[in-house]
Amino acid sequence: MSKEKIALFTIFGGTGDLAQRKLYPSLFKLYQKGYLQDHFAVIGTARRPWTDEHYHQVVADALASLHADADQVTAFASHFYYQSHDVTDVQHYITLKRLSEKLDAQYELQGNRIFYLAMAPNFFGTIARHLKSEHILTENGFNRVIIEKPFGHDFESAKTLNDELAETFDENQIYRIDHYLGKEMIQNIAAIRFGNNIWESLWNNRYISNVQITLSEKLGVEERAVYYDNSGALRDMVQNHIMQILSLLTMDQPVEFTEDDINIEKVKALRSLRPYQPEEVAKNFVRGQYAPTETVKGYRQEDKISPASNTDTFVAGKVMIDNYRWSGVPFYIRTGKRLADKFTRIDIVFKRPVINIFNHELPDNQAADNGLAPNVLTINVEPTEGFELRMNAKNVGQGFATTPVQLNFDHDATAAANSPEAYERLLHDILNGDATNFTHWQEVAYSWKFIDVIQQYWDDHQPSFPNYKPGTMGPQAAADLLAQDGHRWVYQG
Ligand code: NAD
Repeated sequence: MSKEKIALFTIFGGTGDLAQRKLYPSLFKLYQKGYLQDHFAVIGTARRPWTDEHYHQVVADALASLHADADQVTAFASHFYYQSHDVTDVQHYITLKRLSEKLDAQYELQGNRIFYLAMAPNFFGTIARHLKSEHILTENGFNRVIIEKPFGHDFESAKTLNDELAETFDENQIYRIDHYLGKEMIQNIAAIRFGNNIWESLWNNRYISNVQITLSEKLGVEERAVYYDNSGALRDMVQNHIMQILSLLTMDQPVEFTEDDINIEKVKALRSLRPYQPEEVAKNFVRGQYAPTETVKGYRQEDKISPASNTDTFVAGKVMIDNYRWSGVPFYIRTGKRLADKFTRIDIVFKRPVINIFNHELPDNQAADNGLAPNVLTINVEPTEGFELRMNAKNVGQGFATTPVQLNFDHDATAAANSPEAYERLLHDILNGDATNFTHWQEVAYSWKFIDVIQQYWDDHQPSFPNYKPGTMGPQAAADLLAQDGHRWVYQG
């Protein structure tokens, strides 16, 4: 059976950064692997007055780092068509409809349409409305719309956006991208949990002491300053990526490994988040902003950032899940810019053996209160992809003392290099009509409701910024957050 997928892609924002850095290379990889062959076409739309020839060059340039065969690049780029227009102008959609129908006939696309909204979210409602009113959606094939983050800036705005989209698209036609869900090791969470009796048997409050999720960035705010300054780390990283990872770590076993069953379990997990009252926020959530050093600009000194900005570039928090499995287990989360290194990892910290019969001293940095370090299962998401398991073992040689040892498994370099990039994987899922690795509306809604209380409290109370040095793992308060419960971050920087 041919693996070829058949569709017309319409990319709104076809001249933008996302389209050039992520979408064109990912579509090309799908082309190289034969998922896209003869029966696909791409319409790029944006305001700039480009010709098709210029657009082909832009697409080819976007593939330069792949060092692909020139003829193959030319053949791929020939499927791309550019249409210049303003998405707020109804005329745009009339020409778009004509071009879509022409390409549908030319490439035999069977009415299959994928609309990628690679533009600012304030245009999403307008685009969706016009796609419907100008009859660009087809009756004979599938219609799917892809939405980028941010999906709203709080629950109310997310709901408004969702209501606008729902006037044109059913929930099962909407693919909300969270690119973390396209990452190999995030997808692997389900395999680790439900494919291994030892882990699923221990995956609860009887054996797990605490869980730590860290999404750490080394760089500062870079080009996205204007967007970021209106968002901050809590909205930019926690509401979406961290909440999604949390739901995958904490959900119960789905009846079947299908989109609907997984969604049911993720929603149940997010519904069980313990909501904070405003007066509880300061004790359970820490915010930070990076300071200047002699060599690195502080956040307030970055281009396009106000010198008085109170935007959070760091957040750490304690999240509790009030259900039978997780009651009493803190989930510590943290993310930020200008931290010690760039990586994403999840540390599952198990409870210690109840009695230490060996009675020896561990080095201070193991901080084990009964002298035995806890077992820790670490899921390394990026840049290393693999697992680590920390165990206590006997010290080699005379006498009897235990010492923590590490079991490591990393994906081998070839497998990791051939592993599809998140966007490629997600585009492939969309072509297959599989929304398992996308965020569903109920998940967005429960995440925002949890986040809104924290953001509101922060908006109502001035922080004392800046409060952490670049190259560290954030402010001291992030360490204190765990210390107040007798815990410490496994990764110290
Ligand atoms: P960008 O500013 O580089 O591109 C925006 C595109 O929209 C351009 O093609 C521009 O011409 C077009 N555009 C703007 N106004 C228009 C109008 N009125 N009519 C027609 N076209 C118009 O933005 P980007 O970085 O590519 O981001 C696109 C979306 O993806 C945003 O929602 C962003 O939040 C999201 N996103 C981007 C990234 C990334 O890595 N760039 C990552 C995550 C999410």
